[in-house]
Amino acid sequence: MARIYASANAQLGRSWYDYDNFRIEWSSPDRYEIVDRVGGGKYSEVFEGLDTANSETCIIKVLKPVAAKKINREIKILRNLTGGPNIVALLDVVQDPSSRYHSLIMEYVDNVEWKALYPILGEVDIKFYTFQLLKALDFVHSRGIMHRDVKPGNVMIDHRHRKLRVIDWGLAEFYHPGTGYHIRVGSRYYKAPELLVGYKLYDYSLDLWSTGCMLASMLFRKEHFFRGSDNNDQLLKIMKVLGSDNFDAYLKVYDIPFETDMAALLHSYPKQPWTRFVTAENQPFVTSEALDLLDKLLRYDHQKRLTAREAQAHPYFNLVRLEATSIKGDSAEYVSDSGFCSM
Ligand code: ATP
Ligand code: MG
Repeated sequence: MARIYASANAQLGRSWYDYDNFRIEWSSPDRYEIVDRVGGGKYSEVFEGLDTANSETCIIKVLKPVAAKKINREIKILRNLTGGPNIVALLDVVQDPSSRYHSLIMEYVDNVEWKALYPILGEVDIKFYTFQLLKALDFVHSRGIMHRDVKPGNVMIDHRHRKLRVIDWGLAEFYHPGTGYHIRVGSRYYKAPELLVGYKLYDYSLDLWSTGCMLASMLFRKEHFFRGSDNNDQLLKIMKVLGSDNFDAYLKVYDIPFETDMAALLHSYPKQPWTRFVTAENQPFVTSEALDLLDKLLRYDHQKRLTAREAQAHPYFNLVRLEATSIKGDSAEYVSDSGFCSM
C-alpha cells in the first residue's frame, strides 16, 4: 500500500474518482482552428491551435477512437487536476457531431524539445525543473492519482519563461489501495522495476522511479539513463547499476515470483557507486547531494523510494526552496488555496 495519500480517493468520494458515470458536455469545435501539427503518438494527433473567441494559442489534442472509458478517464483526471501546480490546464472538450473524433483543448506550452534542452541545462536549471516536476507529482498524488507515464516527452518546458507543465494524462489512473493494476503502462526506459517484474499492486511511487530516471539523464548527460532493448533487457540494465543482491531482496520482501528465460538476469551483478557515472563533461552538474537524492529515488523497493513530498525536502533543493518562498511565497500555494478548478 502507498506510504502516503493511500486513502485520498476514499476521502474525496465517488464523484471524484468514478469516471465511468459522469456525463461530458461536448462543445462544438467551430471556435478552434488548427494552426500546425506539434506531435502525436499512439493515442492522438496533437496540434497547435487558435481559439478564435479570444485569439489565444491553444493545443488541440485529437484523440484517436479508443474505448470511451479511456477518454472519460483522461478528461475526468484532467478536470480534477486543472489548476494544480505545473499541471497542463484543460480548457474545453469538443466533438464534431459529424465525426467520431473527440478533442481536448489545452493550455499551450512553448516547449523546447527535451533532446535539445537537457544538454544545455545548468546545475540550477536541473534542480529547478526537477523540483517543479516533484511539486506537480505531490499534488497529483495527494489527489489520489498516479500519472503512470512520466518521461521527458510528457513534461513540457518553456525555458524562456521557466515554466514546466506535466501533460499526457492518457495513462493516468486513480489509486485505490489493494487494487491490481495493468503493468503495461509507462514507456520502457522509464518503467519502474515493479512493472518489469509484473507486480500489480503498485502505487504513486511508480512516478518517482521515472522522475529518478529523468534526473539521472539530466545530471549525467545521457539521453536515457537505462536504455533497454525490451522489457527484460530494461530490467537487466537496471540490475547492472543497482545490483542483483538488492533485486533478490526486493523480490523476497514482496513475495514476487520471478521467472525468466533470459540467462543474464540470473547472473549476479554488484551495485555500482553513483560516482561511476561521473565524467569530465557532466561533473559540473553532479554534486554529492544530487547523487544522494538520485540514490533515494532509484530504489527497487517502491516503499523505500522517497515520495514527491519527501524528495522536495531533500537538501539538494535547498536553494530552489528558498527562492520559491522568497520570490512568490508559493510553496504552500495549493495547500492554502482550495480554489483549484474542478469544472
Ligand atoms: P504518446 O503516445 O507519445 O505519449 P499521446 O498521444 O498520449 O502521446 P501527448 O503526450 O499528450 O499525446 O502529446 C503528444 C505530443 O504533443 C507531446 O509529446 C508534445 O510534443 C505535444 N504536446 C502535447 N500537449 C502539449 C502542450 N500542452 N503544449 C505543447 N505541446 C504539447
Ligand atoms: Mg505523450
